[in-house]
Amino acid sequence: MTFHCKNFDINADRCNKLKGECIPGRRGCVLEGKVKLSEELQKKVDALNDKGKA
Ligand code: SF4
Repeated sequence: MTFHCKNFDINADRCNKLKGECIPGRRGCVLEGKVKLSEELQKKVDALNDKGKA
């Protein structure tokens, strides 16, 4: 499946909504809680969330 998010800035390779890296499913992402993430993506989201706690 391919997906194009309107918030993704393809030139800057970043999320305009969250002003940072596009990690689909991350907190605040339009896909948060709506999709089942791959194991690899889930790890990225978890790592990002862990960073936020520190
Ligand atoms: S993080 Fe989510 S909202 Fe942001 S560009 Fe990626 S898919 Fe879209």
